[in-house]
Amino acid sequence: MLSFSRKGSFIAITSVLLLIGFSAISLISYYVANSTLNQHIRTNTLPITSDNIYSEVQRDLLQPILVSSLMAQDTFVHDWIVAGEQNPAAITRYLNNIQERYQTITAFFISESTRNYYHSSGILKKVDPENPQDDWYFRVKKLSGQYEINMDIDTADNSRTTFFVNHKVLDRDNSYLGVIGVGLASEAIKDMIDVYQNRYNRQVYFVDRQGKITLHGEALDDRNSIREIDGLKEIATQILTTTGGSYEYQFKDKHIFLKTRYVPDLDWYLLVEQEEHPEQAVQSVLWLNLGLSIGITIIVLILAHFTLGSYQRRLEQMANTDKLTGAITRSAFEPTFEQLLSFAQRRQQPLSVLLMDIDHFKVINDTHGHLLGDHVLKHITKLMNSLLRKSDVICRWGGEEFLIVLPECNLHSATNIASKMRKLIEESLKVVDSKHIDVTASFGVAQFNNLESSENLFLRVDKALYAAKAGGRNCVETTEQEQEASAKA
Ligand code: GH3
Ligand code: MG
Ligand code: MG
Repeated sequence: MLSFSRKGSFIAITSVLLLIGFSAISLISYYVANSTLNQHIRTNTLPITSDNIYSEVQRDLLQPILVSSLMAQDTFVHDWIVAGEQNPAAITRYLNNIQERYQTITAFFISESTRNYYHSSGILKKVDPENPQDDWYFRVKKLSGQYEINMDIDTADNSRTTFFVNHKVLDRDNSYLGVIGVGLASEAIKDMIDVYQNRYNRQVYFVDRQGKITLHGEALDDRNSIREIDGLKEIATQILTTTGGSYEYQFKDKHIFLKTRYVPDLDWYLLVEQEEHPEQAVQSVLWLNLGLSIGITIIVLILAHFTLGSYQRRLEQMANTDKLTGAITRSAFEPTFEQLLSFAQRRQQPLSVLLMDIDHFKVINDTHGHLLGDHVLKHITKLMNSLLRKSDVICRWGGEEFLIVLPECNLHSATNIASKMRKLIEESLKVVDSKHIDVTASFGVAQFNNLESSENLFLRVDKALYAAKAGGRNCVETTEQEQEASAKA
């Protein structure tokens, strides 16, 4: 019972240690993996994507600026204006040509002298300082720079917002001739941003110097200005006063990494965002690790249970059996003996005992040495065992004395067995290790009378053995008389 509870606590401690160890390792690797991935986003992935997107923006969005700038310096345009805008069809053709060649949705020129709005399809109207729709023209006129980018409703098509590049046209003497430029459909630009977003799996958008979101993809439809977005509004001023930087902020339950970059040609900021590494992937590895840990712990525990169990059984067996002969030891035998007796008593079954003692064993030892004596002991046990059933129990009672319990066996059968043993020993042990020794043994036999104590039974069988010794040895004596006598009593 004690060893059982020790085994139990050993297994419990082992499992707790294994689980703590495994969980600690899994959790540490989880946090390390997470922070490494996030560090990677911060220092590698995000800056690289931001640079890539910046280059693509340069190519895609700056092209209309370049085209507008070329238009503003085109000698044909200048000559045509100076010549008094004689042939509107010529400028219309020119604008049409630009529109087709650069795949823009509009190309326009507004003349300062006539205030005509020339478009690829002809003269649309005259711009009017009183008309708020035309404010942009008068704003560009006063512009200190060469051009502006404007997201506005297209005069040629009221239904769509357009990305306009409004470029000033100046003659050689720097006198103002009007505004020329092209427009891209804002949907096309949004699509372009969505392409960036999908390609790089990042959030991409632009804000102007005030923080207003000027261009964005699908996902940001409900956002207006970075000054109104939780987490971002706190760092908005910092973003809008530096040419670029790396930031982190918390939006709802998401931790977001942000890379900003000022795009001088657009006078906008490019913002590229990435959420903290989606933990699910790492988390599933964590669960897998923990699951494996539990699995391994269970396997180790099962193995420990069985290995310890078998060791325990072997130890118990070693403690209960005599090393030399393999017979059960006296201390282990006693409780077994009591059990066998009470079992026979309950079932009213016969049970007999044999007490065997080797004759003149001292002489054998003295003449041939202890080693040979041991050999004889071993051999005799083997011989006796060969005549026993599985249910019989053989115990090394003393040095060269054996007590054998024969359940379900009456005195007659027991005496028979004893006689067979005596004969077998006498015949088999004439020569041991090529030495002539003539080993014999004496036997006392008694049948349990179902009423007596184990001590009494033993006393009786001991008496029978004594009688055998006294009767000349190498014989079998029973206690039949006394058994009957005590049964009567
Ligand atoms: P008896 O016929 O009267 O039984 O004579 P005996 O010599 O057999 O009896 P005694 O009890 O005087 O001697 C028993 C001897 O058995 C003494 C002891 O040295 C020897 N003996 C006891 N255990 C062992 C053992 O494990 N190995 C060997 N070799 N001898 C043992
Ligand atoms: Mg003896
Ligand atoms: Mg003896």
